[in-house]
Amino acid sequence: MSDAIQAVRGMNDVLPDEAELRLWLDGVVAAWFARYGYRPIRTPLLEHTGLFRRAIGEATDIVEKEMYTFTDALNNESLTLRPEATASTVRAAIEHSLVYDGPKRLWYAGPMYRHERPQKGRYREFTQFGAEAFGYPGPDVDAELIVMCAALWRELGLEGIRLELNTIGSAEERAAYRADLVKHLLAHASALDADAKRRLHTNPLRVLDSKNPLVQEVVASAPALMDYLGEASRAHFDGLRRLLTTAGVAFAVNPKLVRGLDYYNLTVFEWISDRLGAQGTVCGGGRYDGLFAQLGGKPAPGVGFAAGVERLVALLGAPVSTGPSAYLVHQGEGTLEYAFALGEELRAAGFAVVLHAGGGGFKAPMKKADASGAALA
Ligand code: ATP
Ligand code: MG
Repeated sequence: MSDAIQAVRGMNDVLPDEAELRLWLDGVVAAWFARYGYRPIRTPLLEHTGLFRRAIGEATDIVEKEMYTFTDALNNESLTLRPEATASTVRAAIEHSLVYDGPKRLWYAGPMYRHERPQKGRYREFTQFGAEAFGYPGPDVDAELIVMCAALWRELGLEGIRLELNTIGSAEERAAYRADLVKHLLAHASALDADAKRRLHTNPLRVLDSKNPLVQEVVASAPALMDYLGEASRAHFDGLRRLLTTAGVAFAVNPKLVRGLDYYNLTVFEWISDRLGAQGTVCGGGRYDGLFAQLGGKPAPGVGFAAGVERLVALLGAPVSTGPSAYLVHQGEGTLEYAFALGEELRAAGFAVVLHAGGGGFKAPMKKADASGAALA
């Protein structure tokens, strides 16, 4: 068997037990989105590489080292398997003028691709569902997105998923902050690791969420982004916090939370479980008011989140397989034809029926009926 071809590393088969659970989850998620007035959208798995470079940012982990990019030899253009779906959804909204007649609430679900080191909760093909709300400038929709996540965790019976929240202000406020942060980091350069030193020049805010304790010490004494926020940014964050508090959604403000994608501004948040080890973030999101213009569209505010299905499924635990309603055993001349017809009749009436195939006496089929989990034979 040594020459048997295996799946690509980091890309997993979902076998029937889990696939049934995932199908059930898909239905729960679709109904939940509909209850909040979000409408589905589907975009291609492949996009022009430039879309992600422009949207996610050159100096991010995703664009620097995680994208599956190749040249389509037939027309010599660079294509990339989508690493996330916000860029694609905004591209589609611009391309089809989706917000010309007012704001839109949208949702998507499907596979994403990132060339990361595979480990528990981190794969190269993984699944996200997410929401994107276009054209809403206020903190009310930020709050709505967070409140609806809390409702989904409750509906799924998931406990102990905590919410971390931060604001990263406007691009101008961040630029002023970045300059002071770089000064501080340079003054403590001897305590920085290679990664932080590199980030210092490309994407200094990312140094804030370094996991290295030595770097964390430098970060602890760094100036705080919160102190660089103007009136409007503060009001947005205050409004969001007030709405969450009124809705009874608990949160912790984490001033170090910056997220790994460049397009965010103002609100950023993550839902984190302590039951998943290092890969504990099950959902992340935030506001991206500059992305429409950045992708060449008419400016429009945006806010959204993406949840990781594999991590949620790990929290959901063992699936419950129900089996068919009946296993149809036939024995003797002419009974196969009759069983076929009876099976169709029962299915038309809404029952799940497995027809015995492959012959055998009476004992073997009855054993198979037993094993099928059917209530009746
Ligand atoms: P992480 O910090 O875990 O790398 P991220 O910030 O890169 O996450 P996002 O791009 O915000 O993640 O994606 C949203 C969610 O998608 C994550 O919170 C996680 O649940 C899931 N996710 C991201 N990357 C992977 C992956 N490689 N494998 C499985 N799930 C993933
Ligand atoms: Mg990541």
